[in-house]
Amino acid sequence: MALIVQKYGGTSVGSVERIQAVAQRVKRTRAQGHDVVVVVSAMSGETDRLIGLARAVQPQPVPRELDVLIATGEQVTIALLAMALEAAGCPARSYTGSQVQIHTDSAHNKARIRDIDGARVGGDLEAGRVVVVAGFQGIDRAGNITTLGRGGSDTSAVAMAAALKADECQIYTDVDGVYTTDPRIEPRARKLDRITFEEMLEMASLGSKVLQIRAVEFAGKYRVPLRVLSSFREGEGTLISFEEDNVEDAKIAGIAFAKDEAKLTVLGVPDQPGIAHKILGPISEANIEVDMIVQNVGADSTTTDFTFTVHRNDYDTALQVLRETAEQLSAREVAGDETIVKLSLVGVGMRSHAGIASQMFEALAREGINIRMISTSEIKISVVIDEKYLELGVRALHEAFGLAEKTIL
Ligand code: ADP
Ligand code: ASP
Ligand code: MG
Repeated sequence: MALIVQKYGGTSVGSVERIQAVAQRVKRTRAQGHDVVVVVSAMSGETDRLIGLARAVQPQPVPRELDVLIATGEQVTIALLAMALEAAGCPARSYTGSQVQIHTDSAHNKARIRDIDGARVGGDLEAGRVVVVAGFQGIDRAGNITTLGRGGSDTSAVAMAAALKADECQIYTDVDGVYTTDPRIEPRARKLDRITFEEMLEMASLGSKVLQIRAVEFAGKYRVPLRVLSSFREGEGTLISFEEDNVEDAKIAGIAFAKDEAKLTVLGVPDQPGIAHKILGPISEANIEVDMIVQNVGADSTTTDFTFTVHRNDYDTALQVLRETAEQLSAREVAGDETIVKLSLVGVGMRSHAGIASQMFEALAREGINIRMISTSEIKISVVIDEKYLELGVRALHEAFGLAEKTIL
């Protein structure tokens, strides 16, 4: 007998029928003799609908009140799923984040989980009940409702699994595993049986929304066995593996992309020590996270150009802050572009294979795609390109690296 945490995402609980189908799946797992804790998302579209309501009332909603509102989506689902389980003859109890004491910090809309008190859940499991927990939400020290950022139910599930020392955390979604890239963009994308934890971490942080990055971080920190599967079809899904040896010996695991990037450049700033700090200090003070950074050597030796990327939501604020800085520094000009995307190749095999970057650049050049920025790390290469080339770029790289075929080197 094992303890399994199952998480069902928005599409998987998107209608009464889907919730009933989830209840049947949970019941089957129970019938195999396992204890089950289920974490659910809001029904698909519900979180967006609630955010829309908030914005209609207040264009920049007060973060605390936004959390009170958007946490309601998951409360609807836990109650309906518990009812569906009871109706199917499977005893169940539902709990909100505050009831199971999912403690977070106070960063509304992007809170981080601090700890979970598993005691309450334990009692129900001993009594033979399925426990249904609302994903995406928690409470801070003062008892305020918090939410964990979009896609946060993944993190709730992994954190529950870590707190309860579950044998496996299963993430049920609308695709049957982790693919070489988003199958909605490249229909030839191939499902991976396994992906290393490190690769999954990179894929998630570079934009693959199949798992929230914090969920992967949690799984790594607490060594939670994690699997992504379909709630619509049977199958083994994809195992996030902590051992590199057993993983397909491919150079590249997959391609990730982030559509919500924006680029800012300040041209003709004096080329002096401390300039990066002077430019980026005010950006970080405005609570804006910077992603890629490039400083060019200017045409003359006295000035330079400085470019960085931010999340598109932060673009307007970043531009305003940068204009003020540019004036103080007597820079020549400030330019911005919010029609860019970041495309990344990820694979632990890069460590031992040279020439991946040039192969990548060649594939993009063949399609006439201009690379605007490049950044690399040990197991990833990212490029910034124009938004209009996103699909073409993904497909070109998928083809160039033969990702549709299983590669054994
Ligand atoms: P859920 O509501 O179940 O949490 P999400 O929409 O958050 O589901 O995540 C699943 C989606 O992630 C898929 O429908 C797919 O479009 C997208 N996705 C992006 N990259 C990948 C990838 N590499 N493999 C699988 N799915 C991916
Ligand atoms: N309902 C939340 C969202 O749409 C959390 C989740 O689905 O993981 O982002
Ligand atoms: Mg999700």
